Amino acid sequence: MDYGMISQIEKARRYAEEPQRITFNALTATFKGNNADYNITLDENGWNCTCDGFQSHGICPHIMTLERLFKPMLKRPPLPYASGQNVVSDVEKASRYAEEKDRIQFQSFKVTFQGTNNDHTVVYDQGQWDCDSVSFKLRGVCSHTMAMERLLKGMVQPMPAHVTE
Ligand SMILES: [Zn+2]
Ligand SMILES: [Zn+2]
Repeated sequence: MDYGMISQIEKARRYAEEPQRITFNALTATFKGNNADYNITLDENGWNCTCDGFQSHGICPHIMTLERLFKPMLKRPPLPYASGQNVVSDVEKASRYAEEKDRIQFQSFKVTFQGTNNDHTVVYDQGQWDCDSVSFKLRGVCSHTMAMERLLKGMVQPMPAHVTE
């Protein structure tokens, strides 16, 4: 028995119930719309989406969907509605899309994870995971990466073979 590993798994379960520990510093994701796929980014300059709505109004139902799903992990105010935007339609779309998480696939992200004692940085890039914690250096997996996998289930590629259940 790897008791260290068991304790990491237990911590990950608890952390996944406390998403406010996590802050997205940057992300890139693909959003499968009804007619086309769009690329969403969040970085120090804020949000961007490749759809027409965002190009015209600086807000769109795709980003509104991520704001709904990841509110406690964004630590930023939601984008303001824009004049000319069809707010009713966009709100309706975002609430439907939030129930259809398979539309979203993360390509990369960088988060700050408030651990029990220290803050850690978790990075995901095209299926590769990394964390600056000692546990990750030892095992190639840690409570922080496992918690992120739980929170983003279906929207990221899982880490190679390890037991999380
Ligand atoms: Zn969009
Ligand atoms: Zn870690």
